[in-house]
Amino acid sequence: MNVLGSTRVLGVFGHPIGHSLSPVMHNAAIRALNIDYIYVPFHVTPENLRQAVEGVRAMEIAGVNVTIPHKEHVIGYLDEVSRYSMQIRSVNTITNVNGRLKGDTTDGPGFLRSAEAEWGKLDGCKALILGAGGSAKAVTFALAEIGCRIVVANRTRERAEELAGCLRQVFKAGEFRVIELNGQALSEELSGVDMVVNTTSVGMYPDADGIPMPPELLRPNLLVYDLVYNPARTRLVTEAEVRGAKALTGLKMLVYQGALSFERWTGLQAPIDVMEQAAREELGNRP
Ligand code: NAP
Repeated sequence: MNVLGSTRVLGVFGHPIGHSLSPVMHNAAIRALNIDYIYVPFHVTPENLRQAVEGVRAMEIAGVNVTIPHKEHVIGYLDEVSRYSMQIRSVNTITNVNGRLKGDTTDGPGFLRSAEAEWGKLDGCKALILGAGGSAKAVTFALAEIGCRIVVANRTRERAEELAGCLRQVFKAGEFRVIELNGQALSEELSGVDMVVNTTSVGMYPDADGIPMPPELLRPNLLVYDLVYNPARTRLVTEAEVRGAKALTGLKMLVYQGALSFERWTGLQAPIDVMEQAAREELGNRP
C-alpha cells in the first residue's frame, strides 16, 4: 500500500487500541479495492477525546470508528448525530462531510445484516438477549425496529429493567420483558424463543470455558448468536452446534459493522469476504 500526498486517512479511536482488529480488516478492504486510503489505529485517552475529534476536522481525516470507552462521550463533540445513535447513546462511526462531523452507529445494523445474511429475514422473531450492556442496547434496538419480541436476562436485573424501559419508550407497541438470568427462568422461556443472543462478556478470552447459559437448554432449530469473537469459536457456539442449533460468533458482527462504516466513508461496496478473512487470520495469529 503506497501512502501518497493524496491518500485519505481513516482510523479508529480507542483506549486501549492495540487489540483492535479494525486496522487489519479495513486495510485489507482498501488493498482489495485498490483505493487511495489508509486506516490507522489511534490511541485516544478519555481526557484527549475532544482534541482528537477536533483533529479529525483539522487534519481532514475522512472518517473514524470510535470504540470503548468513547462511544457515548463522543456524541457531545459532533455536529450531527443520527436518531438511532441518540436513542442508544452510542456512536461508532464518524464521517467527515466537508468538515461537518456526522455520528452514527453500525453495531446494531451490522448485527442484523450479518444475522440475516446467514439465517434469512428475522422480522417478528422472538429473541432472548443475555446481557444488558452497550452491545445489548445496540442489538435490541435493531431487533425492535423489525418488530421482534424481546426478552432480556441480565446478571444485574435493574440494568435489564432499564434497557426494557428504554425500548418501551421508543417502540411503544413492542413486547419487551425481563427475566432472571438463571437456569430455571431461561428454561421456562426458551420453548417459544427463536434466537438467543449472548451480549455478555462471558466466554471471552481468557475465560474461554465460560458459557452464559446452561448448555443443556440449547436445542435444534434455535439460532444462537454469540457477540464474543475472541476466541473465534466460543464454548456457547460449540455447545449450540453439538445440539443441532445454528450458531454465529461475534466476528460476523464485527466484520459487518466495519463493512457498513467502510461503505459510508468510501461510497463503495465493502468486500465482506476479504474483511472477514483478514480478521479471522489476525485473530488466529494472536497468542
Ligand atoms: P458492557 O456494556 O460492559 O456489558 C457487559 C455485559 O456482560 C453486562 O450485561 C454484564 O452484566 C455482563 N457480564 C459481565 N460479566 C458477567 C458474568 N460473569 N456473568 C454474567 N454476566 C456478565 O459490554 P458490551 O460493550 O456490551 O460488550 C459485551 C460483549 O460483547 C464483549 O465480549 C464484547 O467484546 C462483545 N462485543 C462484540 C461486538 C462485535 O462486533 N462482535 C461488538 C460489541 C461488543 P452486569 O450488567 O450484571 O454487569
